[in-house]
Amino acid sequence: MELLRVENLCKHYGGRETGTDALKGVSFTVEKGEFVAIVGPSGSGKSTLLHILGGVDRPTSGRVLVDGADVYQMDENALAIFRRRQIGLIYQFYNLIPVLNVEENITLPLLLDGRKVDPFRLQNLVEKLGLGERLGHLPSQLSGGQQQRVSIGRALIASPALVLADEPTGNLDSKNSGEIIGLLRDFHRTLDQTLLIITHDERIALQADRIIAIEDGQIAQDEVIRR
Ligand code: ADP
Ligand code: ADP
Repeated sequence: MELLRVENLCKHYGGRETGTDALKGVSFTVEKGEFVAIVGPSGSGKSTLLHILGGVDRPTSGRVLVDGADVYQMDENALAIFRRRQIGLIYQFYNLIPVLNVEENITLPLLLDGRKVDPFRLQNLVEKLGLGERLGHLPSQLSGGQQQRVSIGRALIASPALVLADEPTGNLDSKNSGEIIGLLRDFHRTLDQTLLIITHDERIALQADRIIAIEDGQIAQDEVIRR
């Protein structure tokens, strides 16, 4: 089943005559449950693409359909609901809220959506993340690897259709990187999640089902490496 459809996406930053064409007509589809690595040189448009897929940055033209819904045809309110329910975003620098503790950071997307926290399911999630003993800690009291685990929890708690990660291991040493990717893969398998990861790390890319290479705002290569 197709979960994501991207049609002729273009993104121009800046003025009409000047500025940058960050995406120059990108099209692809992703099946539900696929794990896709997005690779390519710095400045090639990967983050721009991911942000547009996540509903946080509007394209200049083109369409994004998630589970059949045309994301940029939605009004602001529907788009906000779409982001909360359908998208889990994971960033290189975690983007946790510094004044909220681990539990509060993880459960925030549910609460913002007016949903209740189920303590047993929360416990199950934090144990899988290895954060069972840390629920009351602030982000500043955690290591980078632990902070990234919190951000994975926050990305997953609302059971989004699509999980998007922008260099999730870019700030971590190789041991922590391996653990974070292991966690993302485990969740991807057990929850049948659709996962797109931007990475510079070839070892991570080779764990995906498929690698899409972006160069200069276009797809340079799109290769299925396992089914
Ligand atoms: P990547 O993630 O592959 O490094 P980006 O999507 O961040 O690439 O950037 C693609 C191009 O768009 C680059 O030339 C970058 O400088 C430009 N760009 C990205 N974000 C902005 C922005 N907010 N304003 C202007 N130019 C931007
Ligand atoms: P599952 O159905 O297997 O619990 P989901 O995709 O629904 O998986 O949820 C992802 C993670 O978020 C799971 O680990 C789940 O325990 C947790 N979770 C989902 N909904 C809630 C909730 N209402 N309260 C607390 N945790 C939740």
